[in-house]
Amino acid sequence: MLKTPAYAAQDAASPLAPYTIERREPGPREVLIDIAYCGVCHSDIHQARDEWGGSIFPMVPGHEIVGRVAQVGGDVTRYQVGDTVGVGCFVDSCRECAHCQAGDEQYCVQGMTATYNGRERAGGAPTYGGYSTRITVDEDYVLRIPDGIPLDRAAPLLCAGITTYSPLRHYGLKAGDRLAVVGLGGLGHMAVKFGVAMGAEVTVLSTSESKRADATALGAQAFAATRDPDTFKRLAGQFDFIVDTVSAPHDYNAYLALLKVDGTMVLLGVPDQPVPLHAGSLIMRRRKLAGSLIGGIRETQEMLDFCAEHGVASDVETIAIDQINTAYERMLKGDVHYRFVIDTSSLGA
Ligand code: NAP
Ligand code: ZN
Ligand code: ZN
Repeated sequence: MLKTPAYAAQDAASPLAPYTIERREPGPREVLIDIAYCGVCHSDIHQARDEWGGSIFPMVPGHEIVGRVAQVGGDVTRYQVGDTVGVGCFVDSCRECAHCQAGDEQYCVQGMTATYNGRERAGGAPTYGGYSTRITVDEDYVLRIPDGIPLDRAAPLLCAGITTYSPLRHYGLKAGDRLAVVGLGGLGHMAVKFGVAMGAEVTVLSTSESKRADATALGAQAFAATRDPDTFKRLAGQFDFIVDTVSAPHDYNAYLALLKVDGTMVLLGVPDQPVPLHAGSLIMRRRKLAGSLIGGIRETQEMLDFCAEHGVASDVETIAIDQINTAYERMLKGDVHYRFVIDTSSLGA
């Protein structure tokens, strides 16, 4: 076993603090990755604070992992020592069910094995994520980071990137569609970039007036402040598509009213409380309310290659690991521009 420095939450009420974990030597089909950067997702906060229930402690969060292959098992065919690779939100699945076979491993009927806050399929040991210096993963669940994407700016693509790319593809965003992105954080800023790259006309709906200029810099055509009630009157019935990335409870009905007839609103944010839905919000304009969970391995690779081709990468603020608790507090206030990324060299060797 390889003693590995990490940061962990010991329980739902404690700040993250240094912790040592053990990584296994790679098995025949596994690679050992030296982690360079790990993005900080709002899901890390939800889970470290047990807001969704069922959290496993101690917890080492982190599922936006990039680094270099340090060691490969004897039967590994896809990767070599030195390759630049990534790991996203899951590290295993059954591989046999219809969804795994279709490349939608995130919907595995036996449950995907989450990169952290999950349990290994064999043996049930807890999984530990990317707030650490290395990780051992089956090669089938490893992504190749294309040349040309700076590594720190690639990390958030492994969750925020695929989570926003997948529903735009699946629900069929077309060039010329009017797309609204609700919440300009880690997911939201990637939704804007992908929407623009796919030819949509993008509007950012935000609680933070201070993000207006950034929305334009990201390529959005328009920005509207959701604290201004006039916004909801002015934009009623305007959008083909809404991507909702908000992490806290908010009124879905108010946003559904902004869709055209036959428009689709996709929920990506996972607030910790349910929100009432009026049937009329859907019925009166034949609207659709949908959801989407990250994306499969094949589609994640497609998204990474799309990013390299279209010059898309995340806008990041790099932090040392000892700034992680402050970063969480800033994210809870919406003060994120637009993804914190941990430089894991700050964990020591
Ligand atoms: P984030 O970086 O913290 O961004 C969330 C944004 O939502 C904030 O920056 C803020 O944007 C807005 N917001 C926050 N509180 C709000 C409130 N009370 N009312 C209105 N707007 C508010 O978070 P993230 O990492 O993008 O994650 C967003 C959500 O997606 C989380 O719930 C996370 O767990 C979930 N998630 C889901 C998936 C999936 O597969 N579906 C994957 C990853 C994450 P403004 O300042 O612009 O208002
Ligand atoms: Zn995430
Ligand atoms: Zn499966």
